[in-house]
Amino acid sequence: MLKKSKTVSKRISKVNELLIQKYGIPFRPQNPPDPVDMLIATILSQNTNDKNSYKAFTNLKKTYQNWYDVSTLPLAKIEKEIKIAGLGKQKSKAIKNVLRSLLKNNGRISLDHLLNKKDGEILKELTGYEGVGVKTASCVLLFSLRKNICPVDTHVHRTTNRIGIVSTKTPDKTFLILNENLPEGIAHSFHTNLIRLGREICKPANPNCFICPLVRICNYPQKNFEAKNSYKENTFLLLDNV
Ligand code: SF4
Repeated sequence: MLKKSKTVSKRISKVNELLIQKYGIPFRPQNPPDPVDMLIATILSQNTNDKNSYKAFTNLKKTYQNWYDVSTLPLAKIEKEIKIAGLGKQKSKAIKNVLRSLLKNNGRISLDHLLNKKDGEILKELTGYEGVGVKTASCVLLFSLRKNICPVDTHVHRTTNRIGIVSTKTPDKTFLILNENLPEGIAHSFHTNLIRLGREICKPANPNCFICPLVRICNYPQKNFEAKNSYKENTFLLLDNV
């Protein structure tokens, strides 16, 4: 069991505040997406960019009437529809398995029963499906169920370690520490703006520290102040556009 840390909570709040000053409060659609849509979209987003996974998601949504129809397709057909998102074999298997399991367990393809459950129970249920990890499950919690949960992808893991909010080796450990100490009501802005920071400024190689809004509070010992990297805005976030 992890202990809460006031220092970690304060650092998260400070980072959130500085990122909002730089990027503003991120866009959030008025109506949250359906949790099954979100689950499938997040499975498709693994190891690819948002544009390709969005295309794969819309291919499925446009071609088939509903998720039941997708659940009856042969794996090869699903694989063909989602080809653009990569890892077709793995992703088609995970999608079909989730849809068939929901149908078997609940008699219909829906995750509405999660609405009354606690965060831990939801995570446990969703990660029980083959091909659904903590990141995928936590995206359903944040984006569809509007819970104060910060999913941890490669950008959130890298940036929070560089800044010094956490010191961890794996995204799942980062997830535990961040969410144990996450102040109320900030998960969406903190998560979304950190991803933007990671894509545009705090890149894996040679971060653009000279334009970073966190430079004064960041502990990373190998900051880069050479202005030789390109800067390109990247504001499209798949999971707010499902
Ligand atoms: S100062 Fe540099 S290393 Fe630190 S968060 Fe900003 S870009 Fe990343």
